[in-house]
Amino acid sequence: MTTNLSSRRAVLAGLGGLGVAGLGGCVTARPASPPLAAPPLVAPPRPRFVTPPLAPIAMRPDRITKITVCLRPFREAGPRLDVERVGDKRVVHNYGHGGSGWSLAWGSSSIAAGKALEGGTREVAVIGCGALGLTSALLLQRAGAKVTIYAADRTPYTRSARATGTWSPDSRIADADKVDAAFPALWDQMARTSYAAYQTYLGLPGDPVQWTDRYSLFDAADTTPPPLDPALVAPDREGQPDIRFFEAALPGLAPRSHALSPQEHPFAAARARMGVGMQFNVAELAHLLTSDFLREGGRIETMTFHTPADLARLKEPVVVNCTGYGARALWNDRTVTPVRGQIAWLAPQPEVHYGVYYRHVTVLPRPDGIVVQYLGQSDMWGYGLDEEVPSRPEAEAAIATIAPLFAAASPAA
Ligand SMILES: Cc1cc2nc3c(=O)[nH]c(=O)nc-3n(C[C@H](O)[C@H](O)[C@H](O)COP(=O)(O)OP(=O)(O)OC[C@H]3O[C@@H](n4cnc5c(N)ncnc54)[C@H](O)[C@@H]3O)c2cc1C
Repeated sequence: MTTNLSSRRAVLAGLGGLGVAGLGGCVTARPASPPLAAPPLVAPPRPRFVTPPLAPIAMRPDRITKITVCLRPFREAGPRLDVERVGDKRVVHNYGHGGSGWSLAWGSSSIAAGKALEGGTREVAVIGCGALGLTSALLLQRAGAKVTIYAADRTPYTRSARATGTWSPDSRIADADKVDAAFPALWDQMARTSYAAYQTYLGLPGDPVQWTDRYSLFDAADTTPPPLDPALVAPDREGQPDIRFFEAALPGLAPRSHALSPQEHPFAAARARMGVGMQFNVAELAHLLTSDFLREGGRIETMTFHTPADLARLKEPVVVNCTGYGARALWNDRTVTPVRGQIAWLAPQPEVHYGVYYRHVTVLPRPDGIVVQYLGQSDMWGYGLDEEVPSRPEAEAAIATIAPLFAAASPAA
């Protein structure tokens, strides 16, 4: 960079010298008009682009504001999207999205809404008010249906409200060995439809969806960081069948990351990559979807269903079942497996605009707090665990893992 700038200056200076010599010759011969002000010999340097410094994240346990736990509704075969008849109701299922419920919501719900409207129905009940229920209800309503959501909980008390909030369309969405041949294309369609829908939520007040820089940091080229001390975290199912969770590429969709040189980042890590990630600010997003639905004429009723037969209570002939993990009990669907995940929330830092991943811990800056989450050594972390009790030691261990990255930012360093 310096060399280029220097040589550019040298070229400019050389041309300037020629100009002076030529002008000097003219002046000596015969001034045709009053002498003009001499042009600058060297073009003024342009201001350089400067990368703003990154605000440090205050990674301390005394900043924990709350710890939340939630269960991913995982199904080996992928989300359930079939149609069945229960009494006089036609039920369209839309549950079982693992760790991808927000990411795939619009795509999955557009499939479910299409099935619900087959036959010309115009009155539809949606059960559930999480990511899948809200998007189903909005899509149905915008297609002209009269929609009521019936749910035991609504925002901010659903499991969806406790999600990390990142674009993760292949997180625990299915077992790659158990899906049918049509699933990869279906998944691709769901992901692309959702991705496009979320682009329309960018730049809105409160940033319900935004892009944030992400730094992935590694100790050394080929070392796998150790897991957190097992004594400090909720029990894991190590040794359980190692499900190969569905993974596939979405070519040409989201931006890719790139390697950084040590001069390009402030973190004390051997290697770093940087990319941008789509972030769902779930509190704002769920609130916006709920208020859009109500403003556009939808209704929400608090109601709990104990068996499918309870659907007989509803006046609507078509029901979209978006009960997430609740479907395991309501529909007695034992193919829904819980995958526990926990978030430690640190007090918000509005000046932080980037996320970090290091040693299996991910950190995201959300308006409602800094999300710190231990992800485990693999997607099997939390598999089969159905308890939602927060673990303070797990939260503190995750914070302690990330804290050294910011040690250099402390005044004492
Ligand atoms: C720690 C963690 C982090 C996550 N992070 C992300 C992420 O970053 N990105 C992402 O895409 N996904 C993420 N997920 C996954 C995501 O949270 C889920 O896939 C999503 O919440 C599922 O949404 P849902 O609408 O199906 O279910 P829910 O949000 O659980 O909603 C179910 C609704 O149905 C209602 N209900 C259930 N049973 C009944 C009943 N019997 N009677 C009446 N009502 C009932 C509930 O009250 C609720 O309103 C994460 C999950 C966890 C655990």
